Amino acid sequence: MLDKNVAKLLNEQVNKEFYSAYLYLDFSNYYYDIGLDGFGNWYKVQAQEERDHAMLFVQYLQMNGENVTLEAIAKPDVPLTGAKAVLEEGLKHEQYVTSLIHNIYDAAYAVKDFRTMQFLDWFVKEQGEEENNAESLIKKYSLFGDDAKGLYMLDNELAARVYAAPSLVL
Ligand code: MG
Repeated sequence: MLDKNVAKLLNEQVNKEFYSAYLYLDFSNYYYDIGLDGFGNWYKVQAQEERDHAMLFVQYLQMNGENVTLEAIAKPDVPLTGAKAVLEEGLKHEQYVTSLIHNIYDAAYAVKDFRTMQFLDWFVKEQGEEENNAESLIKKYSLFGDDAKGLYMLDNELAARVYAAPSLVL
């Protein structure tokens, strides 16, 4: 059985990860709408990964005898004001998610819940990668995005991203 506060935060994270999936699907739809299908594909794959994250939290709670409470998923609330602006919003969102993961880690640490800390280790590393990916996209857009040919090639590069199941298996 998990500590009440730790269980509550893990439960809330299920919703946050599904919200991330929803938000990135919104990003994906935006890019398809403006004709950047490669960016659309990249964020569609990202949305799939976020759904996987949500399911890992569900599974972890269940493996520890906790009931999972599903709450309403909020409407994506990020303004979609331009190809580069959306990438910047993506980085901001990942930084926020990192803070959420760290917050759960803090709570687990406070009650010496080593099992949850070990589970969260994967997410700590994953958030480092997510932030790095988001920063890299912004850098590439800054370098090539204002040039039509550069943008075309970058879009093609992002079109090649394929979905892969998460490396964490519970
Ligand atoms: Mg995530």
